[in-house]
Amino acid sequence: MNNQTTITRRDFLKLSGASALALTALPAFDGQALAGFLGSEQAANQMGILIDTTKCVGCRQCQAACNLRNNLPPLPEKILPNQTFPAQLSATAFTNVQFFQTGGAEDAPVFTTIKRQCMHCLEPACAAVCPVGAIVKTPLGPVTYDAEKCLGCRYCMAACPFNIPKFEWDSANPRIRKCDMCADRIAAGELPACVQACPTGALEFGPRKELIAQAQARIGKNPDKYVPYIYGLSAVGGTSVMYLAAVPFDQLGLNVNLPDSAVPELTLQVMDKIPAIAITVALLAGGVAWWRGRKTRAGEPESSIEDAEH
Ligand code: SF4
Ligand code: SF4
Ligand code: SF4
Repeated sequence: MNNQTTITRRDFLKLSGASALALTALPAFDGQALAGFLGSEQAANQMGILIDTTKCVGCRQCQAACNLRNNLPPLPEKILPNQTFPAQLSATAFTNVQFFQTGGAEDAPVFTTIKRQCMHCLEPACAAVCPVGAIVKTPLGPVTYDAEKCLGCRYCMAACPFNIPKFEWDSANPRIRKCDMCADRIAAGELPACVQACPTGALEFGPRKELIAQAQARIGKNPDKYVPYIYGLSAVGGTSVMYLAAVPFDQLGLNVNLPDSAVPELTLQVMDKIPAIAITVALLAGGVAWWRGRKTRAGEPESSIEDAEH
């Protein structure tokens, strides 16, 4: 006899019913409250990170520091030069340093490196679509996630215009995983771990409005060095993480076709694209994930879904 709990078909259907009810009980998105917050002093004082790709040397110390801070697997000792590792952000890589050939010749390529992570949007679509408030934009700027509240519906993954949130597909108690701007460190008056680790000053942390002024000054003083644009200043309503570069941002894998529109519009567009059936299936899956999470967190044995009729 094993120590697994069995979910019968009846249990599953009960969960399904609860999830379907949850669908009808989704809270309406409060655009007015968000608009009020965005116009407030609190929003103006938000913190951010300015990533100046012209100063980045691709050493990956930021990445190593992030993995350490978040208890993620350490980077391998040897990574091929000029290689993006891992190739994509994942549930075990909240940031990576991506390499793009932006000049030189085949036998002498010139690479530009760019650190990628959650953009901590001022009006985060991920938070706007979350039906249970598991993702929130905090007053200091970080967009944080609470696994205890998460249903596992993965709306946030569908909604994010930067393809940032990742799901722990291999876990029995899956969570959404992404950079949280080291919210606990910021609250304690420390720098985000990646910013602290960067040896070249490519990463700067500070009040977003000061970072913008600084970025504008750099561009103004070095018009031949920088493209005259701050990525993140206005895209999808603005982001707390912003970039400077010497080459057009689309050469660095950034989407330059994002609208400046506020989240409510973007969110509604996203929600329009998710067919009702997909939402229901997601909620069913979410109900199971939530149920399993509660059991596991309560110290009960992990469950398996079995069809009791067979
Ligand atoms: S980049 Fe994506 S995950 Fe990060 S705050 Fe914006 S919408 Fe959310
Ligand atoms: S801010 Fe923190 S969580 Fe985000 S990439 Fe940097 S070290 Fe990682
Ligand atoms: S630590 Fe700084 S210089 Fe090194 S890869 Fe990260 S951003 Fe670039």
